[in-house]
Amino acid sequence: MAKNPEHLTCLEVIDKSSEFLRLKGVPSPKCDSEWIISSVLEKKRLELYLNPDDILSEEAIGKIRAMVVMRGKRIPLQHILQSVNFAGILLKCDRRALIPRPETESLVDHVLSRVPKSFEGKILDLGIGSGAILIALCLSLEKASGIGLDSSEDALSLAEENIITQGLEKRIRLRKFDWHLDDLRQIDANLIISNPPYLHSREWESAEPEVKVHDPPEALVSEQDGFADLGRIIGLGAQSLKSEGILALEFGIGHPEMIEDALSSDFGDIEVLKDLSHRKRFAIARRK
Ligand code: GLN
Repeated sequence: MAKNPEHLTCLEVIDKSSEFLRLKGVPSPKCDSEWIISSVLEKKRLELYLNPDDILSEEAIGKIRAMVVMRGKRIPLQHILQSVNFAGILLKCDRRALIPRPETESLVDHVLSRVPKSFEGKILDLGIGSGAILIALCLSLEKASGIGLDSSEDALSLAEENIITQGLEKRIRLRKFDWHLDDLRQIDANLIISNPPYLHSREWESAEPEVKVHDPPEALVSEQDGFADLGRIIGLGAQSLKSEGILALEFGIGHPEMIEDALSSDFGDIEVLKDLSHRKRFAIARRK
């Protein structure tokens, strides 16, 4: 393979890339550089430091440079790598759906710690997006089946690819569904889970470019101070969940009281749970 004319070593490429991204205002410049370089060299991030003085090929430098330039334009790292790790599962990730967030892994963990491994019920994921939540649940709950609903054809096509890659196509069905128009009268569910749009338009306005420009806004922003979709989903949960069925929701920082209030008429055992920054962000409740 052709040596790069400047004879740049791996460590020098990490340093130059990190500095470039830092000047562009990218929040984790070193970490993102390492992810890009490790993906091009097909090495683990730590392995980059085992032979820091290795001289990289011209071809590798060219690919790294192109990806670092994209990251400098604030294209999300997950879109550049076309993948995201969610709860230990490698998923395809692109503009078709919201990038799964680490905080949503906590929602999955909270549910898994409340549901027995032998759970063989039906799970509905309202707003399946990339498929992350339902795939993670069905991989852990081996007897469960799922239905993923989304109003976006794009999201459904990405979810389908991820479901097939994980070998779950026999256990997860997908359906186009707009919860503002359709209802769930025909479906009996044992568990409904959702990470719906819940940002106030002001929160979206002040979001980083990675979110504002590259995530689909319809997966993020909701009317009525970010609560409109959550309110509607709680109504649908009451309609479709069997008695004792579980509703699990992620919600925004301004919503804890509104959530408890909206759940109180049809749901009991309401638990409001915190994210890793100790803010109330999740609710789990049982249909009365
Ligand atoms: N937590 C996400 C963000 O801040 C919002 C996800 C959502 O609206 N469901 O970008």
